[in-house]
Parts: sequence; structure tokens; C-alpha cells
Amino acid sequence: MFPAADQYDIDISIDEQARQRLLAVRPVDVNPAAELTFSRNVFVPLTTACRYTCSYCTYYDVPGEATLMSPDEIRSILQTGADAGCTEALFTFGDKPDERYTAIHNQLEEWGYDSITEYLYAACEMALEEGLLAHSNPGDLTQAEFRRLREVNCSMGVMLETTADVAAHAGSRRKTPGQRLNTIRAAGREGVAFTTGLLVGIGETWHDRAESLLAIAELHARYDHIQEVIIQNVVPNDRSSFETPPVETMRRIVAMARFALPESVSVQVPPNLSPTRALLECGIDDLGGVSPITDDYINPEYAWPALEELQSIAEDAGVPLFERLPVYGRYLPESLRRERLEAARQPPKAAAGEGWLSKRIRSALFERSAAGQRYRAVATRERPAATQ
Ligand code: SF4
Repeated sequence: MFPAADQYDIDISIDEQARQRLLAVRPVDVNPAAELTFSRNVFVPLTTACRYTCSYCTYYDVPGEATLMSPDEIRSILQTGADAGCTEALFTFGDKPDERYTAIHNQLEEWGYDSITEYLYAACEMALEEGLLAHSNPGDLTQAEFRRLREVNCSMGVMLETTADVAAHAGSRRKTPGQRLNTIRAAGREGVAFTTGLLVGIGETWHDRAESLLAIAELHARYDHIQEVIIQNVVPNDRSSFETPPVETMRRIVAMARFALPESVSVQVPPNLSPTRALLECGIDDLGGVSPITDDYINPEYAWPALEELQSIAEDAGVPLFERLPVYGRYLPESLRRERLEAARQPPKAAAGEGWLSKRIRSALFERSAAGQRYRAVATRERPAATQ
């Protein structure tokens, strides 16, 4: 049973035979992807406050030092992103930051928001106004919060990281696997196309890695909502001495992810943190988001590779590179899904993709504005991957 599973009524059991099968998987057992994808995003670090203190994390700032972007700052960065040709506004921040940070809470109140969730909602509306589709990673959420935020997000995400009880999450406040699984389940119940993933090298065992992948696969089997699984290695930084896992470890875990998940679920590695070229034959088919204008605030010491670098990675793999929207093609309305994608991957169970996107997101996709044209050009693969 996963830590805190009872508290969240997590009803997932791992089949021991399936775990053993998965543990036997090696790169030679999976096929390389026939193409690679990426999304062009603008990274919006709404706040650096977080109620947790994961020992490997350099993102959060302690109370008194944490930043909160003002509405003007948000709009400015969104405008710059839209001008640069991005389609995605990636909102990422720590977990329930207004719970513990009085100054953040007071500032939000002064601006007229009673929670960071409501502030995020307003920021996502701004993104739509400026011609970007929001994809938010706001930590753990309830079903009611997903119901609200899906109105203005095309997709959302949270890293499971691991189902194990690791010391890296220790502290008086700590995120638990039960809580994370509850969030991923809540997203599925609310029909949110969802991104999750594993953080490799934070004290988990191979047994735990297999269990984490099988738990994600089980939730996806129920709700059909997992669009991609990120396999991210930990990197050493100022706050922790975790070592980057060896390349062979990453090759094996990526292959296990490809084996454990249906073909329709993408496996992604972040090229700015991972030995991407060494992982190409292990089944990855997505390179995540690249931003032409903002730093990767989660790992500021590791610069995003340029689009040319992604093109070069795809050339090394001998496969084409395609830009995608933050929400994957199979969750789009049928009229926007390209024929090739439909042939290669099974469409999701929800009828023609209409159930996955809110009315506002669907309207944005079909509007006659420059942004609408940009979305459709990417969705139908009419925009070449290498152009700005
Ligand atoms: S990893 Fe996420 S949850 Fe943990 S401290 Fe950093 S921002 Fe917070």
C-alpha cells in the first residue's frame, strides 16, 4: 500500500507479476518512436512560494523571500510569448502557497483573490486573451478545483515523482504519494488531459519505479486522461547532493515507461536535464516544452536548448520533429486531429475529443484571430517545427 493511501482512499493495487515483468524490461524490448514532438511555451512562475520543502528543490523560496508575479507582470510575459509565436502558457508554482505564506495570502487578498487557485484562473484567462493556451501545474488539487480550472486550461499536470516514502519528501509538511495519486485520479474524474511523471534518483528503488509506472498506468486505464509521462532525472544543486542517475539507469527506466504505458501515452524527457541522445532508442517520443524567451525557473542552472538543438536531436534519431499544442492531438476536437495521428494512435474514449476541452478552450481553438490560426496550424501540423 502506498504511503497515505488510506487517507485518500486510494484503491490501486499492484499486480506482483506485472511488476516483475516490468522490472525485466530493457531498452532492447521497446521500439524507438517514429517521430518526436515538442511544444513552444512561455514559462510563467506565478509564485516561488510552496508549502513543502522537498530537499532536491531549488524552486521554492522561504516565507519573506518568495515572489508573486503581479497581474501586469503576468500579462507582459504572456504578450512577449504570444509575440514570439508560442502556443502554451505554462503556469507552474509550488503547492498551496497561500496556506503558509501570510504575505502572499495578503497580497492576493489585496488584489481581490481569495486563493492562489482563483488567481491562477484569472492568469489563465489572461493567457487566452493574449493568444495562448494555459497548461497549469499547480500541485495537488481537489476535484472541485479541477472542475473550475479546466474551464480555462487545455491540459494540466502534476509529477507523481514516486509512490515510495522517500526521505527527500521528509519534513513537517510533506507531499505524499497518496495525495499525488488522489490528484491524478481527481483530474481523470473531471476529464482533464493530464501530464505526470517520475523523478528518478531521489531515494527510490527499482521496485518503487515499477510500482509508480504501474500506478499511473492503472489510473490511465480507468480515465484515459494521461497524455504524457515525463521521466526526469534529479540533478545536483545548491540544496541537495543527489547525484544524477547513470545513463544506463535512465535508459532502463525510460524503456520501462514505454513498456508499461499504452502507445497513446507519450513518454517525455526534458532535454535540458537528461542525456536525451542516449535515450532516443528507448521509446521517448516527446521533448517537452521549449521557450524562446524565458528561463527554466525550476532548474535555472540548466539552460533550455534552442529549437535547433531539438532539430539536431531528431536528426540524430532519424525521425521528424513536430510542434504540438500543450494538449495532445488525440484530445482535440475531431476536426483538428490530423489523419496520421488518428491512424497511429487510438483516439481517447470520450466521444470525438469533445468531452476533454471546455467550451472556452474549444472556442479559442476555432476563433478567427491570429492566435486561433496559430493553434490550428500547429494542431494540423501546417507550421514547420523549426520556424519561429
Ligand atoms: S518540488 Fe514542488 S512541491 Fe516540492 S518544494 Fe519544490 S515546488 Fe514545492
